[in-house]
Amino acid sequence: MLIEVLGSSAGWPIPRLGCDCPQCTSPDPRDRRLRSSLLLDRRVLVDAGPDAYAQLLRAGAVPEQVVLTHDHHDHMLGLHVLSKLGRIPLHCTKECEKGLRMIFPRLDFRVMHLTPGVPAELGEGLRVQAFDVDHSQTTRTMGLRFTDAGGHTLAYMPDLGALPGSKLARDADVAIVDGSTRTRPVRGHIPMEEIAGAAKRLRAGRLLFTHIGHRTGTHAELSEWLPAGADVAYDGLQIEL
Ligand SMILES: [Zn+2]
Ligand SMILES: [Zn+2]
Ligand SMILES: [Zn+2]
Repeated sequence: MLIEVLGSSAGWPIPRLGCDCPQCTSPDPRDRRLRSSLLLDRRVLVDAGPDAYAQLLRAGAVPEQVVLTHDHHDHMLGLHVLSKLGRIPLHCTKECEKGLRMIFPRLDFRVMHLTPGVPAELGEGLRVQAFDVDHSQTTRTMGLRFTDAGGHTLAYMPDLGALPGSKLARDADVAIVDGSTRTRPVRGHIPMEEIAGAAKRLRAGRLLFTHIGHRTGTHAELSEWLPAGADVAYDGLQIEL
């Protein structure tokens, strides 16, 4: 499985317009973050935030399938431009579809409902299993476990309001988790500190933070602060499993 991090910011991109904090003025290109999404094997898009089109142009890839964790704006507003690709499959829960249709009544995709635990085929031996995670009272949110033909696994959980309870979150080769806040809980997001502290329970081969929030720190600072075995994702990062 080839994992490409297309974007790694929380709900708003970094740098923030007009902000002169160290994170926003950092010369390190890894501190320029667009909304969180992944591209798997150059053809499966995971979450489609408002930056999706620019991110795909930059990656030089045309998605054949889309999978969504939930229907918050930072994960779905990019569907508008992707609808011009011609009714490609869109995998999401029934509740997510309902939320999407409030913004996109036409929703020009072949919608396929995710059922927790039930594998959905994404072609070429890649499959996804969704599992519920705590994040929002009103928006059902899934973590996603991807398994490729060779048995390599990725657990993607960009928005976590609590440590994931599902066994599908554990024992992945790579777990990519919520980095919205460093030590202070904010609504719907537990701190990186807490997730890193529970890394043993997740038992991931590699733990990576994405959905990086404003004022969490520069990439270099965060990488240094995190314990061994945990790292920070950045836009353009590629991992081959
Ligand atoms: Zn989000
Ligand atoms: Zn700033
Ligand atoms: Zn969210």
